[in-house]
Amino acid sequence: MIKPSCYSCRKRFEPTELRLSYSKNYCEQCGVGLFGEEYFSFPQKPAPTARKNLAVHATVLILGVGGLWLLAHWFGFDWPPF
Ligand SMILES: [Zn+2]
Repeated sequence: MIKPSCYSCRKRFEPTELRLSYSKNYCEQCGVGLFGEEYFSFPQKPAPTARKNLAVHATVLILGVGGLWLLAHWFGFDWPPF
């Protein structure tokens, strides 16, 4: 997993150490320097959604296989035999 980087200093941080402002990531040091106390009212960067992505891939795979199976039957192929 690639760590997100701060938009200002370009260092990489854990997602929980960054906050979002207009969809740009800022670390605490840069954020406070740029925005002062306002920085702490910005939303934290959401945790990575690897599990969700995996579910999407699994769904696409299942739909793809199911679609191929249907196509095969429409065109009269007897394989796979179920
Ligand atoms: Zn920074």
